[in-house]
Amino acid sequence: MSLLAHRASQLGTETAFTVLARAAELTAQGRDIINLGIGQPDFPTPDHIVEAGIKALRDGHHGYTPSGGVLKLKEAVAASLFKQTGADLAPSRIQILPGGKVVIFFAAMLTGEPGGEIIYPDPGFPIYQSAVRFSGATPCPYPLREENDFAFSADDVLSRITDKTRLVIVNSPANPTGGVTPRAEFKKLVDGLMAHPHVTIMSDEIYDRLTFDGHDMTSLLEFPEIHDRLIILNGWSKTYAMTGWRLGYAVWPEHMVDAADRLAVNIHSCVNAAAQEAAFAAITGPQDCVDEMKQAFQRRAALLHQGLNALPGFSSRQSAGAFYAFPNITGTGMTSHDLQTALLEDAGVALISGTSFGEEGEGYLRFSCANSDEAITDALSRIQSWLETRD
Ligand code: PLP
Repeated sequence: MSLLAHRASQLGTETAFTVLARAAELTAQGRDIINLGIGQPDFPTPDHIVEAGIKALRDGHHGYTPSGGVLKLKEAVAASLFKQTGADLAPSRIQILPGGKVVIFFAAMLTGEPGGEIIYPDPGFPIYQSAVRFSGATPCPYPLREENDFAFSADDVLSRITDKTRLVIVNSPANPTGGVTPRAEFKKLVDGLMAHPHVTIMSDEIYDRLTFDGHDMTSLLEFPEIHDRLIILNGWSKTYAMTGWRLGYAVWPEHMVDAADRLAVNIHSCVNAAAQEAAFAAITGPQDCVDEMKQAFQRRAALLHQGLNALPGFSSRQSAGAFYAFPNITGTGMTSHDLQTALLEDAGVALISGTSFGEEGEGYLRFSCANSDEAITDALSRIQSWLETRD
């Protein structure tokens, strides 16, 4: 008999953390491991943001803040969203949270329940499925297809909607594929959703500032006709290299604001006060740091694209955004999981199996660009040697 509630067994995990732990173990044993498994920028948080955090601590920002976040920060987020998307949002609809990830959990808990269905991308960020299952709702994945450059297809999403559907999740630019969905497809999705007023939509826009040349970010905030049932997930982790600060935000539809605030009060009270001051400096300060990091990710994505296509058994699409490549590895004759394990244990390169992101990820590996050009080049040559010499 389990001493845990049934729902505890429904929680999934992020394999990236497991691979990271194994890579650290091998490193501790003296092995030289290159980590292309990690999903966080390899840059430090820009100085002016760190200084704002330190100053906030020195200035006495040591206490609780309002549960939904400091007002000036919510106003700054609203102003920045207005500039980027044209959406004029009341700051009361913005909630500052300890990470964008929390928005997924809140959204699933506030909309999902047994008998309901939640639609999400596969391959996709693994926390979607985990949070859906924990809520008791039925997980309904929709495929992201390589031949579509991993953009979502509005038809694939809309065809899964039933009268039990509570929430639809979309993510562009996407983890783990690097896919960016064109505006026309978003428009088609929004038009289709007009026939399903009972469905809430969550757009995970955490990589919104990381689109590469020739690809534009589309935010669902650009479509006022769904504002009354739209949840936005975003944050500071990827844009400002602030993963460890634990900072994110949600935009909630008016009718969800109070419930989301109650969840915050029950779970974490508020986000670290000094971190919110740093977040304010990030969003209102100079943005060249964002462009510099983006240039580096774009350069490395191109390097990976070229190198991956030269590997026997691999073929790779050009990433359109985020900081991942998601090559097809079926030509190696190995499963994604076996190849992930072999490359870590034998070649010393940490990567993530596509199946960590859903069943549709079989036949793919996720490579992260969050490492130096040298490390990427070295990893590619290690993989090449391993592929050429394996039995
Ligand atoms: N959404 C996606 C698609 C992600 O890849 C991540 C992080 O890897 C998150 C959300 C959550 O980011 P954080 O909680 O660090 O803000």
